[in-house]
Amino acid sequence: MKTTRLTKSHIQKIYRPANPKTHKGTQGHALLIGGSYGKMGSITLSVKAALHSGAGLVTAFIPECGYQILQTVVPEAMVITDMGHKHLSNIQYEIEPNAIGIGPGIGQEQGVQHAFHEFLRRVRKPLVVDADGLNILSQKKDWISLLPKNTILTPHPKELSRLIGEFASEEDSKENAIRFARQHKLILVLKGAPTFITDGNSLFQNTTGNAALATGGTGDVLTGIITALLAQGYEALDAAKLGVYLHGLTADLALPETGTEYFVASDVIRYLGKAFL
Ligand code: AMP
Ligand code: MG
Repeated sequence: MKTTRLTKSHIQKIYRPANPKTHKGTQGHALLIGGSYGKMGSITLSVKAALHSGAGLVTAFIPECGYQILQTVVPEAMVITDMGHKHLSNIQYEIEPNAIGIGPGIGQEQGVQHAFHEFLRRVRKPLVVDADGLNILSQKKDWISLLPKNTILTPHPKELSRLIGEFASEEDSKENAIRFARQHKLILVLKGAPTFITDGNSLFQNTTGNAALATGGTGDVLTGIITALLAQGYEALDAAKLGVYLHGLTADLALPETGTEYFVASDVIRYLGKAFL
């Protein structure tokens, strides 16, 4: 399959500046679901990234133990907790978000798996699944058919091999990922150096990013960015392309100032403004 490089001019055709008359109610409401005891940082990063990527409103759905953490670290976000103290146990809410991201820090306990299954049976929104959300799907392959069409999955190489199996070469793995995306009508963000994006019919290679991104939490930030773009009405494939490009660009812009070693996932968020500009 032909590979299209995601260049600046490709991305500029996708990007839409905000309407001057917009307000928070029309700027998209992103819901981020995840977190567990000891892994509240993941979902906190996703929530923060969504706020800094143009979503008008961002709600976090987290286990009870994360309430004070979220409300303190990200005062701009709204927070809903479920009955589970350390892990999510029942993903139910009254809000109507425009897009949902699920998985960062969520864990894979039995109760979480059950809650995730119930969530998938009901969900009808543009969706991003990441991290342990993907790992649960790898164990429960028949749940993949519950994913809404054009759901975006964002596996790193290990998560991908759990999902589609091990292959002899990276090329084989990519070919099988493309087939998987086509078969299930999903968008796959194959995170790596570089990242590839496919909807099963086309393949895009990102041109931004560097080794500074090889640090914990950068994937959680990407989930927040893409979910915010979906909430603002970008088509799934466009949201994935724009999100991946901007995410990598933050590291390229930061590099002369931070170097590789100093850079952490919060720096992706810190440089998002410059990347959007
Ligand atoms: P995760 O493993 O889920 O935290 O995701 C890591 C993120 O950082 C993905 O978006 C990767 O594409 C990106 N990343 C990690 N290492 C590199 C690298 N050496 N060059 C470019 N991007 C990278
Ligand atoms: Mg990750």
